[in-house]
Amino acid sequence: MHLYGTQAIKDNELTIGGVSTTELANTYGTPLFVYDTALIRERAQGFVETFKELGVQAQVAYASKAFACVAMYQLAVQENLSVDVVSGGELYTALKAGVPAERIHFHGNNKSVEEIEMAFDAKIGCIVVDNFYEIELINTIAQQKNANMNVLLRVTPGVEAHTHEFITTGQADSKFGFDLNNGQADDAFKAAQEKSGITLLGLHCHIGSQIFETEGFSLAAGKLMAKLGAWRDETGFTPQVLNLGGGFGIRYTAEDTPLAPQQYVADMIQVVKEEAQKLNLDVPEIWIEPGRSLVGDAGTSLYTIGSQKTVPGVREYIAVDGGMSDNIRPALYDAKYEAVIANKANEAADYTYTVAGKLCESGDKLMTDAKLQKAEEGDILAMFCTGAYGYSMASNYNRVARPAVVFVENGQHQLVIRRESYEDLIQNDLPFTLK
Ligand SMILES: *Cc1c(COP(=O)(O)O)cnc(C)c1O
Repeated sequence: MHLYGTQAIKDNELTIGGVSTTELANTYGTPLFVYDTALIRERAQGFVETFKELGVQAQVAYASKAFACVAMYQLAVQENLSVDVVSGGELYTALKAGVPAERIHFHGNNKSVEEIEMAFDAKIGCIVVDNFYEIELINTIAQQKNANMNVLLRVTPGVEAHTHEFITTGQADSKFGFDLNNGQADDAFKAAQEKSGITLLGLHCHIGSQIFETEGFSLAAGKLMAKLGAWRDETGFTPQVLNLGGGFGIRYTAEDTPLAPQQYVADMIQVVKEEAQKLNLDVPEIWIEPGRSLVGDAGTSLYTIGSQKTVPGVREYIAVDGGMSDNIRPALYDAKYEAVIANKANEAADYTYTVAGKLCESGDKLMTDAKLQKAEEGDILAMFCTGAYGYSMASNYNRVARPAVVFVENGQHQLVIRRESYEDLIQNDLPFTLK
């Protein structure tokens, strides 16, 4: 069994941050998300320190769509991270959590007028512009407010990351960004340069997710630097920022072989420096946007095992008290996970079970043919590596209440998102009054 961060086994039980997971399940109920904040800090420092050591100006922005709540934004600030938001809701939460506005970057391919106005009013650090419509919109709002906005242009460099097809965004056929290779990016550059309400800082790309090599980032960095060099030559433009996005892979199962954060960053810096020298450009600030790699393996889901079903000669099912409503990734991406029965962690994992959720969908399976300890009703199943795109994609399908989230560190635990109640579920419902 692969243990992450501060996870350990004590008296046959899985502990995280020095806290027994069965104690957490008893205290807070299940399903429960448990975050190992020491591991999040370690991951964040891995990125931040590498830029420092290699002497490059940088911002490491937490892509908060991976897992957003007030406490998580506060932890990000403690670790000197900037923050990416992709909606008014994330922006609102980040501001409420006390993230300094100038360290917030706003993404999205269809930001609304209200969202852009909110960004201006809060005086956020920059908007990552996705399309021509948005360039006009930002400039119009800038004039109305007699203000100015820093922007990066998001481009698609045509670099394909080796990853699951559904979550690749760097290729030309993407809903995101300006194509770097067909003249669109040049048109966007001209348009942005002409707008008095816009200050263009540089370029952005995000080539995909769950990426395990550095070549994709290096290729993208080379293409974007070349474009910045060409614009400098044509117009005298001075690029200040090169944002190479996120997508650094993590280990979900033994098949995944991620590099250390340090390695991704070191390779990226080398390419940017080489290109800068070739082009006779100053090395711009390098920004990155890790989401999954900051929080993914720091999160563990705890479930209580209930019913079991044997399909003779075919499969043994065990069912848990959550499922696709708190983790849709297996159903959406065929994502794979590993797990342990938390109260039997030292016992041999010589049983094979398919772990089903409790939602009314045949596809609501969390794991297929998982190797586990002997499962009995009331056991606690700990599924590893659920910290990214788990809670943040949770739904109330079947009117299931969303789970609670706790942070653990140094033997202490704290509730950071309370479990939804039945009352919460109907709080926006209004009685029918038409006759
Ligand atoms: C989702 C996203 C990220 C983070 O991706 P991870 O795979 O979680 O690291 C970064 N930048 C942009 C623009 C994104 O859309």
